[in-house]
Amino acid sequence: MGRRKLVVGNWKMNGMRAHLDEVEAIGRVAAAHPSVEVGLCLPATLIMAGSERRGAAFIGGQNCHMDISGAYTGSLSAEMLAEAGATWVITGHSERREARGETNADIASKSEAAHKAGINVILCVGETLAVRDAGKAEQVVADQLLASLPDDAAADWLAVAYEPIWAIGTGRIPTLEAVATMHAALRAALASRIGAEADKMRILYGGSMNGDNAADLMAIADVDGGLVGGASLSAKKFAPIIEAAEQRMAAAA
Ligand code: PEP
Repeated sequence: MGRRKLVVGNWKMNGMRAHLDEVEAIGRVAAAHPSVEVGLCLPATLIMAGSERRGAAFIGGQNCHMDISGAYTGSLSAEMLAEAGATWVITGHSERREARGETNADIASKSEAAHKAGINVILCVGETLAVRDAGKAEQVVADQLLASLPDDAAADWLAVAYEPIWAIGTGRIPTLEAVATMHAALRAALASRIGAEADKMRILYGGSMNGDNAADLMAIADVDGGLVGGASLSAKKFAPIIEAAEQRMAAAA
């Protein structure tokens, strides 16, 4: 049995109650494409209301704290996200690694905390343009993945997202060959840590994925779906990506 494609929107700091209609519309698109697992990682303020209108899509958070509770002003624990209705959470997004100084160890702890709270994890990794230009992308990203991977990582609760930092929100993507090389390198790195479990673990591509490039990206053997920012904000833009994932699933069956 192959890996089920996973397509997840990351709304970042976008979305007010008025946008819950889009959540509902995306939930309907998810219901129409049952072979694909579809989710939306919403701003925390929308998780509860979004969970009530999610249809066949799951709702996730975009970050969690590594502790269950405590004096951490402004933070949310994984348990809190779960209580609000989130069943997934993103950890290690480059916008947090860079702007908030999150370390690989922090990300492993947050992922572990999410797992303990019963939440699945999308663990993000990716290189800067300088690293890619230096020809070190595979080595640097594989090292980053192994350093932020929790010890007991397993495919039934954790997926990896490869997101080249220079491709996020820029409209640029790596060549398909570069994506294939990276995803194969990440699967090999996973295998070195978790053995045969690596074959079951989904590795998503993220960074300027849209309705025009999704089919080509998801045709790559080790690309098991997408983490999508800008193009997930409306059902109109997100639907073609979900559709492309379903077509790839059908072609591989
Ligand atoms: C992201 O930030 O996770 C992302 C993939 O953004 P975009 O699709 O807008 O490049």
